[in-house]
Amino acid sequence: MAEEKTEQRIGKAERDIVALGIATAAIIIFVGIGGSVMGDVVEATFGEGKGPDRLLVNAMLLNIALIIFGWRRYRELSSEIQQRRAAEEQARRLSEIDPLTGCLNRRSMAKATEELRNGSNRHGQALAYVMIDLDNFKQVNDMNGHAIGDKLLIELAARLKEKLPKDALLARLGGDEFAFVMPYDGKHPERIDDQVIRLFETATAMYQVDDMAVELTMSIGIATDHDEQGFNPLVSDAQTLMHHADIAMYHAKNQGKNRYYWFEPTMENELRFRNELETGIRRGLSVGEFVPFYEQQIDLESGDLVGFEMLARWQSPQLGLVSPDIFIPIAEDIGVIGDLSEKLMVEAFADARDWDPDLTLSVNISPIQMRDPWFAQKLLKLLVEHNFPAHRLEIEITESCLHDNVGMVRSMIASLRNQGVKVSLDDFGTGYSSLEQLRSLPFDRLKIDRSFISELRNPDASSKIVDAIVSLGNGLDMPITAEGIEDENILDLLKTMGRLKGQGYLYGRPETADQVRMRLKAAGRLVEQPDVVPAAQDSAVESRVDPENLRRIAE
Ligand code: C2E
Ligand code: CA
Ligand code: CA
Repeated sequence: MAEEKTEQRIGKAERDIVALGIATAAIIIFVGIGGSVMGDVVEATFGEGKGPDRLLVNAMLLNIALIIFGWRRYRELSSEIQQRRAAEEQARRLSEIDPLTGCLNRRSMAKATEELRNGSNRHGQALAYVMIDLDNFKQVNDMNGHAIGDKLLIELAARLKEKLPKDALLARLGGDEFAFVMPYDGKHPERIDDQVIRLFETATAMYQVDDMAVELTMSIGIATDHDEQGFNPLVSDAQTLMHHADIAMYHAKNQGKNRYYWFEPTMENELRFRNELETGIRRGLSVGEFVPFYEQQIDLESGDLVGFEMLARWQSPQLGLVSPDIFIPIAEDIGVIGDLSEKLMVEAFADARDWDPDLTLSVNISPIQMRDPWFAQKLLKLLVEHNFPAHRLEIEITESCLHDNVGMVRSMIASLRNQGVKVSLDDFGTGYSSLEQLRSLPFDRLKIDRSFISELRNPDASSKIVDAIVSLGNGLDMPITAEGIEDENILDLLKTMGRLKGQGYLYGRPETADQVRMRLKAAGRLVEQPDVVPAAQDSAVESRVDPENLRRIAE
């Protein structure tokens, strides 16, 4: 569009050159008229003849004026055209550059890659396209403000530029996405690995921006137009190269971020499957395919049922019953975890209303939800709206919540506990919470991760870690729950360690709301709420499980 306009303007200016044409014609006429007028003037000067014709003189003067006018107009026009051309050139240059970092932008990068690719192939070199995407940059922006975010991007671009070789091109493709292309000897792809590792070192070193220390991590995908055999004709253009690098970058993200991968063709299928899962999750959320299951929690000493942990399940029409290990990380990535969690809690509150009021309900809360400063308020509001007593609710958070913003997490825990909600530290032992954090954070309970409990199954395994965690809990005055109790031997061993709560397959697999009702009814622990119509339950849930699908997803 802009180019079209430019063309039109220049075209118009050039048409104005007609003015020059008029001047030229005026000169020719001037020569004609001037010939006879000047002859008359010369004759009159020597007293011969009657002098020049007045009309002709006037015509000649007019001619001179026209010549001067035409000439000046021509000069003005040509300087105007020059200025315009310079401005267009400047605009074109700017349109190729990212204004924030001075790198190439997405559009010019595509063009430059194509050119570099042609050039390097002519010289028998390979070309690597390296896609860089910052991890959780939105969070950095949200927490520190966009001004700091911008400064970080500028500093990052400078660090990358400094470490790249001269023949590499760096671009900012938009937001927190960068890329560079670099020719290399196709037989030595390890040079690209070295380069990328160096970039990781420089880009992830601490940033000091306006008295603020910030750390960044990034995920990187690499694609090349050469394989082990040499030039890869499948990568027929720069576009494909970029696409492959993008896929490899997503793979790095899905594998846990802060790492890099070379593109491999199988990644394309994974990405397709992942996209299908994403769409499926969004759709499933809107049509209510996510349901709560419940796992019993037992007082190990008395063997009494004391409550349930709610565990999310996805009843997908295509995939069968899907495990939360598959869909929770995706729901976190695509930003629907809060919504999903809220929907499940509302259902669980409704289910638990009919239970013996002594039974507690535990729910797992994702670290992403804990980043929301309004989380505690939202949860308390939910409790009020659904008339669920706060003291029956226990939330389980993992140690990874503590890395993000301990101060905020601490105040959130405090306000929830003030209202009577209990807070336990889940999967304890698998993260990195320091003793200092444990001492200063007011948890109501520690849950020993099931990986430590399953160690106890081994007859000659030592119970030292579990022992140590139990005495740590005693020292900090935090009661303990052991997860993943699968057999009587483990149970017996745990019983010797003090008064613990426990849960695991020994007591049964997680069950549907309907199955829980039956269990409680048999135990005389179901309170029929006359004023509440129980939510419609689907008791056929477990029978729809498709083990084949599950295995495929889990792999
Ligand atoms: P978790 O919080 O550690 O939950 C316990 C997991 O251990 C459950 O897996 C449960 O089925 C399994 N389990 C229970 N007893 C045994 C046992 O004796 N042996 C073994 N091997 N496993 C046992 P599940 O339901 O697949 O959940 C996996 C994880 O997904 C949970 O681990 C939790 O971190 C997460 N999750 C589940 N529901 C939600 C949710 O609503 N929100 C969030 N944010 N995370 C959830
Ligand atoms: Ca849990
Ligand atoms: Ca756990």
